[in-house]
Amino acid sequence: MNKKYYDLIKANILIVDNSPENLRLLSSLLIKQGYRVNCVADGEMALHAVKGKLPDLIILDALIPLIDGYRLCQILKTSEKTKHIPVLFISSLDSEKDKVRAFQLGAVDYITKPFFWEEVIVRVQAQLKWNQQKKHLQTLVQTQVTQQQELEQKLSQSRVLLSGVLNSSLDGVAVFECIRDKWGKIIDFRWLVSNPVATMTVGETKDSLEGKELYKQLNLTGHLFEGLFNLFVQVVENCTVLNKEHYYKTDNAWFHIVAVKLNDGFAMTFRDITERKQMEITLREVNEELERQANIDSLTQVSNRRRFDEYLTQEWSRCTREKEYLSLIFCDVDYFKLYNDAYGHQAGDRCLFEVAQGMELIIKRPADVVFRYGGEEFAVILPFTEGEGALKVAQEIKQAISQLKIPHHISEVSEYVTLSLGVSSIIPVANISPKALIETADQALYEAKHRGRNQVVYKSLKLPTPQSQV
Ligand code: GH3
Ligand code: MG
Ligand code: MG
Repeated sequence: MNKKYYDLIKANILIVDNSPENLRLLSSLLIKQGYRVNCVADGEMALHAVKGKLPDLIILDALIPLIDGYRLCQILKTSEKTKHIPVLFISSLDSEKDKVRAFQLGAVDYITKPFFWEEVIVRVQAQLKWNQQKKHLQTLVQTQVTQQQELEQKLSQSRVLLSGVLNSSLDGVAVFECIRDKWGKIIDFRWLVSNPVATMTVGETKDSLEGKELYKQLNLTGHLFEGLFNLFVQVVENCTVLNKEHYYKTDNAWFHIVAVKLNDGFAMTFRDITERKQMEITLREVNEELERQANIDSLTQVSNRRRFDEYLTQEWSRCTREKEYLSLIFCDVDYFKLYNDAYGHQAGDRCLFEVAQGMELIIKRPADVVFRYGGEEFAVILPFTEGEGALKVAQEIKQAISQLKIPHHISEVSEYVTLSLGVSSIIPVANISPKALIETADQALYEAKHRGRNQVVYKSLKLPTPQSQV
């Protein structure tokens, strides 16, 4: 037995009729059909009966004592508790007027006496079924209304939450939607949402931003979004995430911008990182200065020995790769011990500074570098320079230092400070160490000293022959 049928036969029916014959007939008919039947003979008893268990259907005779059927129907239909109970009139009054009156008072059906029992059964079943479906529908609607209310409550809670998050965020948050032309091309973005930090950052109010076209309407020339239009288009069209540290020239400010696609537009957060950026820049400058200082000889202000080793190795590799000449000049101040003895150590220091700076003035190419190699000895590395060119530079240095005319009255070669210079040159090869070039240039310098100082000597670097390498 299916549930619906079970419910139908279990339905409670109240019969209100003052004719014992009718009551007996109707009740036995309905009981046979499986209904539970309660019979009363007048209106007052009927009202008393519905105070207990509510019937699922009332079969009501129009002509009953105390309260007539019409009045009873009216009372039942005005009470919240009983108005939903279907009332089926069964009456010997068969005029149209009586029927209309019954329906107007809320009756769901009207059967005239004498009745056919099949008709009564069918009509009772129809009303019960209809009422049951109505109840089912009402329950469904009520469930949906409740669900809808719960959803709306959740939505409003999440709105409150979202606006709380947005309002308390230290980052600017804004949402934009695309404005497209008739061919679908993005031509601008409409500002939909902005939190307090966002409006404050662009120096506007919420009302002056929201709903406006970002590039066309908002007069934010030189603003934070300048130069970002194409990147925003890519975010929407290619679903890329824009994550960028953006320099905002007008205010000399830096912003970290993150933009992600949201519907047909994008959501964006931006944070002022100017302070951090400035610290980074200062730190970089400090590091560069430290690096520079680590490579500079403090007395002469030219590159130091540490840098010499590093730079020679670097340029050795580069010239090896490119099969180019690398030249080295060693310079040594002549009779410098005597200079110190004659003029004092401080004057000696000053002299070394002037010699170094004098050398710096001679070298022209960016890759040519002067180093203080140690004591009163200097070196010049000349990448991409063959022996002849290096010799020329060495001669120029010798000449320039003489021209400084730093008095050295106890020098044995001149009345001024002079240099002796040794030069060597090579196209480096991978199996030779840069030491070979240093040694040869040093030998050339020794030769220059030996030959009487204040002169330049070139010594070529002999590469070991394949036999001598074995
Ligand atoms: P030569 O012509 O053979 O090069 O003779 P020299 O006297 O220049 O050579 P020597 O190697 O005998 O002496 C070098 C002198 O350079 C000794 C040292 O006191 C001086 N010297 C080295 N470094 C410094 C420095 O930083 N400041 C000063 N004032 N003198 C220095
Ligand atoms: Mg020396
Ligand atoms: Mg010397």
